[in-house]
Amino acid sequence: MYNFQKIIQRIKWKWHDLRCAFGFGKSLTTEKKRDVILVYHGIDAIGSTAYNTRFISEAMFEKQVAYFAQNTHVLSLDDFFLERFSPNKMNLALTFDDGYQNNLTRALPILEKYKVPATFFITGIHSLNQKVLWPDVIDLTIPYLPKEIDILGIRFCKKRKNQLLAKETGENVKQFLQKKSQAEIELVLSQLNTDYPFPLNAYHPDYYQTLTDLEIKFLGQNPLITIGAHGVFHTDLTVLSEQECLNELQKSKDYLEKLIQKEVSAIAFPFGTYNKKVLIAAEKVGFTQLLALDKMGNISHPQMRERFGINPFISYQNQILAIIEGKY
Ligand SMILES: [Zn+2]
Repeated sequence: MYNFQKIIQRIKWKWHDLRCAFGFGKSLTTEKKRDVILVYHGIDAIGSTAYNTRFISEAMFEKQVAYFAQNTHVLSLDDFFLERFSPNKMNLALTFDDGYQNNLTRALPILEKYKVPATFFITGIHSLNQKVLWPDVIDLTIPYLPKEIDILGIRFCKKRKNQLLAKETGENVKQFLQKKSQAEIELVLSQLNTDYPFPLNAYHPDYYQTLTDLEIKFLGQNPLITIGAHGVFHTDLTVLSEQECLNELQKSKDYLEKLIQKEVSAIAFPFGTYNKKVLIAAEKVGFTQLLALDKMGNISHPQMRERFGINPFISYQNQILAIIEGKY
């Protein structure tokens, strides 16, 4: 988005907040407008976006769920795909990407309190003996790195807001690594770990801890929770060859199915990236529910649905309004 549009958007949000504060806000209880799959990531105690820009607080999450429970029809992902929709209410399915432990410790109690179903899309990193997603290792280690560092032969420099950018091209380190192979990313992780070990004690586990095998097993038994796949290594599937893509998808499905002893039929593509090859591979492996991030591009598939991402930077009223209207 252009900066100008961003400013206009911010003014719009502020104006709406102001009107709401004086009781003139747009009504949040509207008649059915559309059917939506929402995507959350992490839930923390205070709603900090300092470490991960996709986290909201427990209190904000509860407020949203309370609204959904009262004003919308929240369905499981299976029911959403089967279109078991309410004819007169907005139909919602809630999903969480990345398999953070806080989905269990902070989101689940709220989902249970309001009896609202949700789907957790979980990677298979624990099968690789890793506990932290590689993009989080990078993000959370950056503050502890020197001003300049070589990564896979490229010079990176730290910039404001703890960004690590390629000295020559300005490319963000995570975008740079996203296009590399798992072996190369693992090499970077192990090099970082030797010189700059992951600063476990510097952060609350909410910001890095992912669900263990035992916890996934436990969640799999909860009637409100559907477990979906999110790749094994949180790999950008579009970077893989056809065979590698099939392997990655099959392994992520097998890993979860073995744990929960149920079929896993949904996949949310890591980073939201996909192409024709990825969709064909997902279908071949047996996924029947394919979840994109945000609006789908040109490539569509009868079993694919777009999702609407939660925005941690706006007020409760603006968030609900955006969900109702389908745009920010
Ligand atoms: Zn993800």
